[in-house]
Amino acid sequence: MIFDILTIFPGMFEAPLGESILGKAQARGIIQVRVHNIRDYATDKHQMTDDRPFGGGEGMVMKPEPIVSALEGLCREGPRPWVILLSPQGRLFNQKIAWELSRRPRVMLICGRYEGVDERVSEYYTDEQISIGDYVLTGGELAAMVVTDSVTRLIPGVLGNAGSALVESFSEPILEYPQYTRPQEFNGYRVPEILLSGHHEVIHRWRRGQALLRTKLRRPDLFLRLDLSEEDRELLRL
Ligand code: SAM
Repeated sequence: MIFDILTIFPGMFEAPLGESILGKAQARGIIQVRVHNIRDYATDKHQMTDDRPFGGGEGMVMKPEPIVSALEGLCREGPRPWVILLSPQGRLFNQKIAWELSRRPRVMLICGRYEGVDERVSEYYTDEQISIGDYVLTGGELAAMVVTDSVTRLIPGVLGNAGSALVESFSEPILEYPQYTRPQEFNGYRVPEILLSGHHEVIHRWRRGQALLRTKLRRPDLFLRLDLSEEDRELLRL
């Protein structure tokens, strides 16, 4: 899968995407992350990528020409990308959207800055806008990293243990059960005995019960959407 990232701060991506699982996925050729400097596509003397807003107001707005020139130039090579503008006004990103994107051969992520990007870019040149949460970042770069990271780990072959992406939080809209590792006792706090019992079926049921309970308490919005089985109801009554 190819990620094309358009930004005026390409340096922000080097270390974060080059380490650990994402770094290995690139080294193994499972993904390619190509970071493009929007400024390289600006044709004026000062390579301007922003300008004052029409109608007045605070701050600067990213100009459409360099972004569209980058986008169109890059689209001429390889498979057609799914073009996303990162924006606090976009579709709220979640695990389901990450799965959707992980099935695409190529995704292009446009990072805005300042007061945002000239509206004509989203209106005429992108497939969708994505927001990573109801808060405002200084730029789309961190949002692009969040999307790249969460999508990459769903691509077959990226995670060592292929099952882990399937069982964890939000594969089903339910929070994951609590996890523990050694030591059995830490500062006087013990791991739940049941996890040391070796009874896989009992452990499985306990984990399911814990997952249901914490979803009910922490994310009642998700809990309401669950299709509970009779066994799930029984576990919640225990
Ligand atoms: N004035 C814009 C507004 O109110 O919608 C906010 C612009 S923000 C300061 C600059 C850039 O950061 C945006 O163009 C977008 O690319 C990125 N950004 C900020 N918050 C984001 C979020 N929650 N999700 C995705 N991108 C975000």
